[in-house]
Amino acid sequence: MVRPTYAQIDLDAIRANFRSVLSHVGGPSGGVEVIAVVKANGYGHGAVPVARALEAAGATMLACADIEEGVELRRGGVHIPILVFGALSVSDLDGVFSHELTPTISSPFAARALRAEASRRGTRIRCHLKIDTGMNRLGFRYDNLADTVPMALAGAGLDIDAVYTHFATAEDLAHPLFDTQRERFDAALGTLAELGIRPRRRHAGNSAALLRDHATWFDAVRPGLLLYGVAPPVWSGRLSLKPAMTLHSRVVAVKGMRAGETAGYGARDAVTRPTTIAVVPAGYADGLDVRLAGRGSVLVRGRRVPIVGSVCMDSITIDVTGLDVSPGDEVVLLGSQSGGMIGADEVAATIGTVPHEILCRTGSRIVRSYDAGGGAPESDAETP
Ligand SMILES: *Cc1c(COP(=O)(O)O)cnc(C)c1O
Repeated sequence: MVRPTYAQIDLDAIRANFRSVLSHVGGPSGGVEVIAVVKANGYGHGAVPVARALEAAGATMLACADIEEGVELRRGGVHIPILVFGALSVSDLDGVFSHELTPTISSPFAARALRAEASRRGTRIRCHLKIDTGMNRLGFRYDNLADTVPMALAGAGLDIDAVYTHFATAEDLAHPLFDTQRERFDAALGTLAELGIRPRRRHAGNSAALLRDHATWFDAVRPGLLLYGVAPPVWSGRLSLKPAMTLHSRVVAVKGMRAGETAGYGARDAVTRPTTIAVVPAGYADGLDVRLAGRGSVLVRGRRVPIVGSVCMDSITIDVTGLDVSPGDEVVLLGSQSGGMIGADEVAATIGTVPHEILCRTGSRIVRSYDAGGGAPESDAETP
Protein backbone atom coordinates (compact mmCIF):
# COMPACT_ATOMS: atom_id res chain seq x y z
CA MET A 1 0.00 0.00 0.00
CA VAL A 2 1.70 3.21 -1.12
CA ARG A 3 0.06 6.62 -0.97
CA PRO A 4 0.21 8.54 -4.24
CA THR A 5 2.24 11.26 -2.54
CA TYR A 6 5.70 10.04 -1.60
CA ALA A 7 9.31 11.20 -1.48
CA GLN A 8 11.95 9.58 -3.64
CA ILE A 9 15.37 9.91 -1.98
CA ASP A 10 18.46 9.52 -4.12
CA LEU A 11 21.19 8.25 -1.79
CA ASP A 12 23.73 8.28 -4.63
CA ALA A 13 23.14 12.03 -4.87
CA ILE A 14 23.80 12.39 -1.13
CA ARG A 15 27.03 10.41 -1.46
CA ALA A 16 28.10 12.49 -4.46
CA ASN A 17 27.28 15.74 -2.64
CA PHE A 18 29.35 14.56 0.32
CA ARG A 19 32.30 13.85 -1.99
CA SER A 20 31.81 17.24 -3.62
CA VAL A 21 32.12 19.00 -0.26
CA LEU A 22 35.07 16.80 0.71
CA SER A 23 36.98 17.68 -2.43
CA HIS A 24 36.08 21.36 -2.03
CA VAL A 25 37.83 21.40 1.34
CA GLY A 26 40.84 19.51 0.06
CA GLY A 27 39.89 15.89 -0.49
CA PRO A 28 40.16 12.92 1.87
CA SER A 29 43.86 13.56 2.47
CA GLY A 30 43.51 17.33 2.75
CA GLY A 31 43.21 17.13 6.50
CA VAL A 32 39.86 18.92 6.76
CA GLU A 33 37.22 16.55 8.08
CA VAL A 34 33.59 16.75 6.92
CA ILE A 35 31.19 16.34 9.84
CA ALA A 36 27.99 15.39 8.02
CA VAL A 37 24.91 16.95 9.61
CA VAL A 38 21.90 14.62 9.66
CA LYS A 39 19.74 16.34 12.30
CA ALA A 40 15.97 16.72 11.94
CA ASN A 41 15.51 13.33 10.34
CA GLY A 42 18.30 14.01 7.87
CA TYR A 43 16.68 17.31 6.80
CA GLY A 44 13.52 15.34 6.08
CA HIS A 45 15.27 12.67 3.98
CA GLY A 46 15.26 9.98 6.70
CA ALA A 47 18.11 10.06 9.21
CA VAL A 48 19.12 6.40 9.28
CA PRO A 49 19.29 5.66 5.53
CA VAL A 50 21.06 8.98 4.93
CA ALA A 51 23.53 8.36 7.76
CA ARG A 52 24.31 4.86 6.58
CA ALA A 53 24.82 6.06 3.02
CA LEU A 54 27.21 8.74 4.28
CA GLU A 55 29.07 6.24 6.44
CA ALA A 56 29.44 3.95 3.42
CA ALA A 57 30.73 6.92 1.42
CA GLY A 58 33.53 7.44 3.93
CA ALA A 59 32.09 9.97 6.38
CA THR A 60 34.07 9.90 9.62
CA MET A 61 31.65 11.81 11.85
CA LEU A 62 27.96 12.71 11.84
CA ALA A 63 26.12 15.38 13.79
CA CYS A 64 22.57 15.50 15.09
CA ALA A 65 20.50 17.84 17.23
CA ASP A 66 19.82 15.85 20.37
CA ILE A 67 20.50 12.61 22.22
CA GLU A 68 17.31 10.99 20.98
CA GLU A 69 18.34 11.53 17.35
CA GLY A 70 21.76 10.09 18.12
CA VAL A 71 20.28 6.98 19.73
CA GLU A 72 18.06 6.47 16.69
CA LEU A 73 21.14 6.54 14.45
CA ARG A 74 22.97 4.00 16.63
CA ARG A 75 19.93 1.72 16.67
CA GLY A 76 19.86 2.04 12.88
CA GLY A 77 23.37 0.61 12.65
CA VAL A 78 25.59 3.70 12.48
CA HIS A 79 29.08 3.05 13.89
CA ILE A 80 31.06 6.26 13.29
CA PRO A 81 31.24 9.00 15.96
CA ILE A 82 28.09 11.11 16.35
CA LEU A 83 28.29 14.67 17.63
CA VAL A 84 25.22 15.99 19.46
CA PHE A 85 24.81 19.76 18.98
CA GLY A 86 22.09 20.48 21.51
CA ALA A 87 22.18 21.58 25.13
CA LEU A 88 22.17 18.61 27.47
CA SER A 89 21.18 20.38 30.64
CA VAL A 90 17.62 19.09 30.78
CA SER A 91 18.12 15.82 28.91
CA ASP A 92 18.22 12.25 30.06
CA LEU A 93 21.94 11.62 29.59
CA ASP A 94 21.80 7.82 29.50
CA GLY A 95 21.92 7.69 25.70
CA VAL A 96 25.18 9.62 25.59
CA PHE A 97 26.91 6.84 27.52
CA SER A 98 24.95 3.77 26.45
CA HIS A 99 25.14 4.66 22.75
CA GLU A 100 28.55 6.32 22.71
CA LEU A 101 27.52 9.74 21.50
CA THR A 102 29.85 12.75 21.55
CA PRO A 103 28.10 15.52 23.48
CA THR A 104 28.61 19.25 23.13
CA ILE A 105 29.37 21.18 26.30
CA SER A 106 27.60 24.43 25.64
CA SER A 107 26.92 25.74 29.12
CA PRO A 108 28.30 25.37 32.65
CA PHE A 109 25.09 23.57 33.61
CA ALA A 110 25.56 20.99 30.84
CA ALA A 111 29.18 20.48 31.87
CA ARG A 112 28.14 19.84 35.46
CA ALA A 113 25.42 17.38 34.46
CA LEU A 114 27.79 15.42 32.19
CA ARG A 115 30.57 15.39 34.74
CA ALA A 116 28.24 14.09 37.42
CA GLU A 117 26.95 11.34 35.15
CA ALA A 118 30.47 10.36 34.03
CA SER A 119 31.67 10.12 37.62
CA ARG A 120 28.58 8.12 38.65
CA ARG A 121 29.50 5.63 35.93
CA GLY A 122 33.19 5.76 36.79
CA THR A 123 34.10 6.73 33.24
CA ARG A 124 35.37 9.62 31.14
CA ILE A 125 33.72 11.10 28.10
CA ARG A 126 34.97 12.85 24.99
CA CYS A 127 33.16 16.07 24.21
CA HIS A 128 33.24 19.12 22.01
CA LEU A 129 33.26 22.50 23.69
CA LYS A 130 31.11 25.20 22.09
CA ILE A 131 32.08 28.86 22.13
CA ASP A 132 29.47 31.56 21.55
CA THR A 133 31.22 34.18 19.41
CA GLY A 134 28.18 36.34 18.73
CA MET A 135 25.23 34.13 17.83
CA ASN A 136 23.96 34.42 21.40
CA ARG A 137 22.46 30.99 21.38
CA LEU A 138 24.34 28.05 22.89
CA GLY A 139 27.99 28.13 23.91
CA PHE A 140 30.32 29.74 26.43
CA ARG A 141 30.64 33.48 25.83
CA TYR A 142 33.89 34.26 24.01
CA ASP A 143 34.76 37.17 26.31
CA ASN A 144 34.88 35.52 29.72
CA LEU A 145 36.24 32.05 29.05
CA ALA A 146 38.99 32.38 31.64
CA ASP A 147 36.29 32.76 34.29
CA THR A 148 33.78 30.18 33.11
CA VAL A 149 35.66 27.32 31.48
CA PRO A 150 38.07 26.21 34.23
CA MET A 151 35.18 26.03 36.66
CA ALA A 152 32.99 24.11 34.21
CA LEU A 153 35.68 21.59 33.41
CA ALA A 154 37.14 21.22 36.90
CA GLY A 155 37.65 17.69 38.08
CA ALA A 156 37.90 14.54 36.06
CA GLY A 157 35.50 13.12 33.54
CA LEU A 158 35.48 15.37 30.50
CA ASP A 159 37.98 15.14 27.65
CA ILE A 160 37.76 18.12 25.30
CA ASP A 161 38.31 16.60 21.89
CA ALA A 162 37.28 19.65 19.85
CA VAL A 163 36.23 23.26 20.17
CA TYR A 164 33.69 24.87 17.89
CA THR A 165 31.55 27.89 17.14
CA HIS A 166 28.69 28.73 14.78
CA PHE A 167 28.23 31.74 12.47
CA ALA A 168 25.10 33.88 12.56
CA THR A 169 25.51 35.76 9.26
CA ALA A 170 27.42 33.53 6.85
CA GLU A 171 24.87 34.21 4.11
CA ASP A 172 24.97 37.97 4.48
CA LEU A 173 28.04 39.27 2.68
CA ALA A 174 27.56 42.80 3.98
CA HIS A 175 27.30 41.91 7.66
CA PRO A 176 30.46 42.62 9.68
CA LEU A 177 29.60 40.05 12.37
CA PHE A 178 30.94 37.21 10.21
CA ASP A 179 34.57 38.35 10.32
CA THR A 180 34.16 39.51 13.90
CA GLN A 181 33.04 36.03 14.94
CA ARG A 182 36.04 34.46 13.24
CA GLU A 183 38.42 36.80 15.01
CA ARG A 184 36.71 36.13 18.33
CA PHE A 185 37.03 32.39 17.74
CA ASP A 186 40.76 32.71 17.04
CA ALA A 187 41.16 34.73 20.22
CA ALA A 188 39.08 32.21 22.18
CA LEU A 189 41.32 29.36 21.00
CA GLY A 190 44.29 31.35 22.28
CA THR A 191 42.64 31.86 25.65
CA LEU A 192 41.79 28.16 25.90
CA ALA A 193 45.40 27.24 25.10
CA GLU A 194 46.52 29.49 27.95
CA LEU A 195 44.10 27.57 30.16
CA GLY A 196 45.75 24.34 29.05
CA ILE A 197 42.94 23.28 26.74
CA ARG A 198 44.43 22.18 23.42
CA PRO A 199 41.73 20.37 21.45
CA ARG A 200 42.64 17.93 18.72
CA ARG A 201 40.25 19.74 16.36
CA ARG A 202 38.55 23.10 15.80
CA HIS A 203 35.48 23.63 13.61
CA ALA A 204 33.11 26.42 12.68
CA GLY A 205 31.69 26.32 9.17
CA ASN A 206 28.19 25.27 8.15
CA SER A 207 27.28 25.09 4.43
CA ALA A 208 27.19 28.85 3.88
CA ALA A 209 30.34 29.61 5.88
CA LEU A 210 32.45 26.90 4.28
CA LEU A 211 31.52 28.14 0.81
CA ARG A 212 32.09 31.73 1.79
CA ASP A 213 35.59 31.60 3.22
CA HIS A 214 38.22 28.91 3.57
CA ALA A 215 39.41 30.65 6.71
CA THR A 216 36.37 29.02 8.40
CA TRP A 217 37.51 25.47 7.63
CA PHE A 218 39.95 24.95 10.53
CA ASP A 219 40.18 21.17 11.04
CA ALA A 220 36.61 20.27 10.12
CA VAL A 221 33.48 21.68 8.46
CA ARG A 222 29.84 20.95 9.32
CA PRO A 223 27.65 20.99 6.20
CA GLY A 224 24.00 20.02 6.33
CA LEU A 225 22.14 21.63 3.44
CA LEU A 226 24.86 20.96 0.84
CA LEU A 227 24.69 17.20 1.46
CA TYR A 228 21.06 17.21 0.38
CA GLY A 229 21.96 18.92 -2.88
CA VAL A 230 20.87 22.45 -2.10
CA ALA A 231 23.22 25.42 -1.86
CA PRO A 232 22.50 28.47 0.28
CA PRO A 233 21.00 30.86 -2.29
CA VAL A 234 23.90 33.34 -2.31
CA TRP A 235 26.32 30.54 -3.19
CA SER A 236 24.27 28.61 -5.72
CA GLY A 237 26.50 27.20 -8.46
CA ARG A 238 29.68 27.17 -6.35
CA LEU A 239 29.68 23.40 -5.97
CA SER A 240 28.39 20.65 -8.17
CA LEU A 241 25.38 19.33 -6.24
CA LYS A 242 22.40 17.13 -6.97
CA PRO A 243 19.13 17.56 -5.07
CA ALA A 244 18.41 14.29 -3.30
CA MET A 245 14.68 14.58 -2.72
CA THR A 246 11.89 14.41 -5.27
CA LEU A 247 8.39 14.84 -3.91
CA HIS A 248 5.98 13.00 -6.16
CA SER A 249 2.22 12.85 -6.34
CA ARG A 250 -0.46 12.06 -8.89
CA VAL A 251 -3.46 13.83 -10.28
CA VAL A 252 -6.60 12.32 -8.73
CA ALA A 253 -9.28 14.42 -10.44
CA VAL A 254 -9.60 16.88 -13.33
CA LYS A 255 -12.55 19.24 -13.69
CA GLY A 256 -13.74 22.50 -15.19
CA MET A 257 -14.46 25.83 -13.54
CA ARG A 258 -16.49 28.63 -15.08
CA ALA A 259 -15.27 32.20 -15.28
CA GLY A 260 -15.98 33.98 -11.99
CA GLU A 261 -15.68 30.87 -9.82
CA THR A 262 -13.09 30.21 -7.13
CA ALA A 263 -11.37 27.08 -5.84
CA GLY A 264 -10.80 26.11 -2.23
CA TYR A 265 -11.19 27.71 1.21
CA GLY A 266 -11.70 31.43 1.33
CA ALA A 267 -13.05 31.54 -2.24
CA ARG A 268 -10.37 34.01 -3.29
CA ASP A 269 -8.99 34.86 -6.72
CA ALA A 270 -11.92 34.13 -9.00
CA VAL A 271 -10.81 32.87 -12.40
CA THR A 272 -11.42 35.19 -15.34
CA ARG A 273 -11.73 32.48 -17.98
CA PRO A 274 -12.97 28.90 -18.19
CA THR A 275 -10.30 26.96 -16.32
CA THR A 276 -9.32 23.33 -16.02
CA ILE A 277 -8.04 22.36 -12.61
CA ALA A 278 -6.47 19.16 -11.39
CA VAL A 279 -6.67 17.99 -7.79
CA VAL A 280 -3.42 16.66 -6.27
CA PRO A 281 -3.56 14.75 -2.95
CA ALA A 282 -0.81 16.62 -1.12
CA GLY A 283 -1.39 19.47 1.29
CA TYR A 284 0.03 21.24 4.29
CA ALA A 285 -0.02 18.02 6.31
CA ASP A 286 2.53 16.76 3.79
CA GLY A 287 4.66 19.85 4.27
CA LEU A 288 3.37 22.19 1.57
CA ASP A 289 3.22 25.75 2.78
CA VAL A 290 -0.21 27.41 2.69
CA ARG A 291 1.42 30.54 1.27
CA LEU A 292 2.16 28.64 -1.96
CA ALA A 293 -1.47 29.15 -3.03
CA GLY A 294 -1.43 31.58 -5.94
CA ARG A 295 2.39 31.75 -5.81
CA GLY A 296 3.95 28.31 -6.14
CA SER A 297 4.15 25.88 -9.04
CA VAL A 298 4.37 22.15 -9.63
CA LEU A 299 5.45 20.07 -12.62
CA VAL A 300 3.02 17.96 -14.60
CA ARG A 301 3.72 16.46 -18.03
CA GLY A 302 7.05 18.28 -17.95
CA ARG A 303 5.32 21.65 -17.67
CA ARG A 304 5.35 24.12 -14.83
CA VAL A 305 1.79 24.89 -13.70
CA PRO A 306 0.56 27.20 -10.94
CA ILE A 307 -0.96 26.19 -7.62
CA VAL A 308 -4.34 27.95 -7.51
CA GLY A 309 -7.12 28.17 -4.92
CA SER A 310 -5.92 27.22 -1.45
CA VAL A 311 -3.41 24.76 -0.04
CA CYS A 312 -5.62 22.49 2.07
CA MET A 313 -4.57 19.91 4.68
CA ASP A 314 -4.64 17.02 2.22
CA SER A 315 -4.81 18.53 -1.25
CA ILE A 316 -4.01 21.32 -3.64
CA THR A 317 -5.54 22.38 -6.93
CA ILE A 318 -3.42 23.27 -9.94
CA ASP A 319 -4.34 25.12 -13.13
CA VAL A 320 -3.89 22.75 -16.08
CA THR A 321 -5.93 24.71 -18.62
CA GLY A 322 -4.92 23.75 -22.16
CA LEU A 323 -2.88 20.72 -21.09
CA ASP A 324 -3.84 17.14 -21.72
CA VAL A 325 -3.92 16.01 -18.07
CA SER A 326 -5.75 12.97 -16.68
CA PRO A 327 -6.10 11.27 -13.32
CA GLY A 328 -3.00 9.19 -12.67
CA ASP A 329 -0.58 11.66 -14.26
CA GLU A 330 2.57 12.17 -12.23
CA VAL A 331 2.98 15.51 -10.44
CA VAL A 332 6.33 16.66 -9.06
CA LEU A 333 6.03 19.05 -6.12
CA LEU A 334 9.77 19.30 -5.45
CA GLY A 335 12.54 18.09 -7.73
CA SER A 336 12.74 17.55 -11.46
CA GLN A 337 10.55 16.10 -14.17
CA SER A 338 11.34 15.99 -17.91
CA GLY A 339 13.94 18.73 -17.65
CA GLY A 340 11.81 21.01 -15.47
CA MET A 341 12.97 21.66 -11.93
CA ILE A 342 11.41 23.02 -8.74
CA GLY A 343 14.16 23.42 -6.17
CA ALA A 344 13.89 23.80 -2.41
CA ASP A 345 15.67 27.14 -2.86
CA GLU A 346 12.95 28.31 -5.28
CA VAL A 347 10.12 27.26 -2.96
CA ALA A 348 11.90 28.91 -0.03
CA ALA A 349 12.27 32.17 -1.94
CA THR A 350 8.59 32.07 -2.93
CA ILE A 351 7.39 32.01 0.67
CA GLY A 352 10.27 33.90 2.27
CA THR A 353 12.13 31.24 4.21
CA VAL A 354 15.37 29.20 4.03
CA PRO A 355 15.66 26.01 1.94
CA HIS A 356 16.41 24.04 5.12
CA GLU A 357 12.83 24.59 6.27
CA ILE A 358 11.35 23.34 3.01
CA LEU A 359 13.25 20.05 3.27
CA CYS A 360 12.66 19.53 6.99
CA ARG A 361 8.93 20.03 6.86
CA THR A 362 8.38 17.06 4.55
CA GLY A 363 5.46 15.50 6.38
CA SER A 364 5.70 12.53 8.72
CA ARG A 365 3.03 10.64 6.76
CA ILE A 366 5.10 10.81 3.58
CA VAL A 367 6.74 7.50 2.78
CA ARG A 368 10.39 7.86 1.79
CA SER A 369 11.45 5.56 -1.00
CA TYR A 370 15.21 5.04 -1.33
CA ASP A 371 16.96 4.74 -4.60
CA ALA A 372 20.53 3.50 -4.49
CA GLY A 373 21.11 4.55 -8.04
CA GLY A 374 21.61 1.41 -10.10
CA GLY A 375 18.10 0.26 -9.31
CA ALA A 376 19.15 -2.04 -6.46
CA PRO A 377 16.80 -1.83 -3.50
CA GLU A 378 18.49 0.16 -0.76
CA SER A 379 17.93 -2.53 1.86
CA ASP A 380 20.12 -4.91 -0.17
CA ALA A 381 22.66 -2.35 -1.25
CA GLU A 382 23.29 -1.02 2.23
CA THR A 383 23.35 -4.18 4.31
CA PRO A 384 26.88 -4.57 5.62
C1 LIG B 1 22.37 22.81 11.49
C2 LIG B 1 23.76 23.10 11.85
C3 LIG B 1 24.77 23.01 10.87
C4 LIG B 1 24.49 22.76 9.41
O1 LIG B 1 23.92 23.90 8.80
P1 LIG B 1 23.69 24.01 7.22
O2 LIG B 1 23.31 25.43 7.01
O3 LIG B 1 22.57 23.08 6.90
O4 LIG B 1 24.95 23.61 6.58
C5 LIG B 1 26.08 23.20 11.29
N1 LIG B 1 26.37 23.48 12.58
C6 LIG B 1 25.41 23.58 13.54
C7 LIG B 1 25.82 23.89 14.94
C8 LIG B 1 24.09 23.42 13.20
O5 LIG B 1 23.14 23.52 14.15
